[in-house]
Amino acid sequence: MATTQTFGGGVHPHEIGNGKTATRSQLIANAAAPARVTIPMVQHAGAPALCCVKAGQIVNMGQVIGEAQGVVSAPVHASVSGKVVSVTNCVIADGRTVPAVVIDNDFEDRWDESVKPCENVDALGAEEIVAIASSCGIVGLGGAGFPTHVKLNTVKLDPKPDTLVINGSECEPYITSDHRVMVECAAQIIDGVRLAMKATGIKCARIGVEDNKMDAVEALKAAATEGIDVVALPAKYPQGFEKMLIYALTGRKVPNGALPGAVQCVVLNVATCAALSAAVREGKPLIERVVTIAGRVANPCNLRVRVGTSLMDLLDQVGGLTDGVRKLIVGGAMMGNAVPSLNLPVTKTFGAFLALGEEAVSAEESACIRCGRCVRVCPMGLMPAKIDALVRHDNYDGAIAAGATNCMECGSCTYICPAKRGLTQSCRIAKAIARSKKS
Ligand code: SF4
Ligand code: SF4
Repeated sequence: MATTQTFGGGVHPHEIGNGKTATRSQLIANAAAPARVTIPMVQHAGAPALCCVKAGQIVNMGQVIGEAQGVVSAPVHASVSGKVVSVTNCVIADGRTVPAVVIDNDFEDRWDESVKPCENVDALGAEEIVAIASSCGIVGLGGAGFPTHVKLNTVKLDPKPDTLVINGSECEPYITSDHRVMVECAAQIIDGVRLAMKATGIKCARIGVEDNKMDAVEALKAAATEGIDVVALPAKYPQGFEKMLIYALTGRKVPNGALPGAVQCVVLNVATCAALSAAVREGKPLIERVVTIAGRVANPCNLRVRVGTSLMDLLDQVGGLTDGVRKLIVGGAMMGNAVPSLNLPVTKTFGAFLALGEEAVSAEESACIRCGRCVRVCPMGLMPAKIDALVRHDNYDGAIAAGATNCMECGSCTYICPAKRGLTQSCRIAKAIARSKKS
C-alpha cells in the first residue's frame, strides 16, 4: 500500500479566475498544423542540439534536424514535412535567444523513413528502451525538460533506485493537459510506466494524482498492472514538485541540494510516459504535445499541438482573446513566464498558454505586517520575509545563510502575502548571487 502523507505548507490556488473548470472535462482536440513552424534547438535541460539541416532543404516529419550534443542533451525533430526556410535564432519562453529551424509546411505529413513501429516490443532489453528514448528526443514534459534517457539509465547508480515516482499531480491553476492525457490515454501512460520499469529494473511504480482529478485516478487504476500503484493525493500546491511528490508517495525526504536518486527514486511525468510508449511502440519522435489554452480566450481547451507552432497560431485556433486581458503567460499562473512575443513557439516543455486578467496583476506592494503567512506556507520551511528583508538590504550572505538557495521558487509565499511583497523574486536574486559566487 502506498504512503500518502503530505508535505508541510503549500497553498490552494486552484480556483483563482476560472481555474481548471473551463477545460478539465473537454476532450483533447488536434490543433491544425500551422503553415510555418519555428523549432528551437533548445527544448530540454542540458546542452543545446546542433542544427544539422540547411535553408532550402526538404525535410520529412520526424526527421532529425538537431543532433544531441553530449549525454545530457536531446535531438530535435521536424514536426511537419516541408522546406527549411532558414536556420536562424528565436526567443523561447524563458527569454533566451536560441538557434532555431524555420520550416514551411507542405501539408503532406510525410513521415521520415526512420519512423517505424517496433515489431516485438517484448523482446526489447533495457539498453534498447533507453536508446529509443534518446533517439526519439523524449524529455520531461512536466516543464523541466530533463532528457528521459538519462533518467532511465540507472546502470551505474549506487544505490540502485527502487521506486519509480510518476507525477500526475498537475497542481498549477488553470492547467489540465496532464489531466486530460490521464483520462484519455491511461493505457498508454501505464505502458510507458512498464517500459520505464523495464529500462530501470525498478519493480515498484507509484503514480501520484491530486484528488481533484478522481476521473484520472479511476482511469489509471483501471489500466494499472502489477507493481503499479495509483495514489490520490490532497490537492495542494506545489504537490507536483519532485521533493513534495517523493515525500507523499514514499515518505522519503530528498536532502537539500540532492537529486531524487539520493533517496533511490526516479521521477517521470505522466505525459512523458505516454510519449515513451509512442516512441517505443510506434517509433514516434517527440514532435507534438498537449497544451492547455485557458483564461480569457474565446474557447478555452486542450489542444495537441505540433512543436514549433507560434502562440499567434494557437490564439487563432481558440478564437482569440476576450476582454480584460492584462497578462499573457506561458506555463502556469504560479511558475510561468510572461509572454515576450506572440511569435514564441511551442516547445516540448510548453504545457500551457494563459490569458489572465486582473487576477494576475499584483497590487501595489506595502510594508510587511509580520503576519507569518509566508512562513506557514513555505514547503521548504524557509522564512521568506526574513530572506526578503536581507536581500533588500543587500545582505546576500545573510540571505544565503537563511537558506535562500533551498527555495524552489514555487511562488507560494508571494501568492499568500497580503502585503504583495516580491518574496520569490528576492529568493531568486539571492540564488543568482550564490551561483555567481560559485563560478
Ligand atoms: S521561499 Fe521559495 S520555496 Fe518557500 S514558498 Fe517562497 S518560493 Fe516557495
Ligand atoms: S506574508 Fe507578507 S506580510 Fe506576512 S510576514 Fe510574510 S512578507 Fe510579511
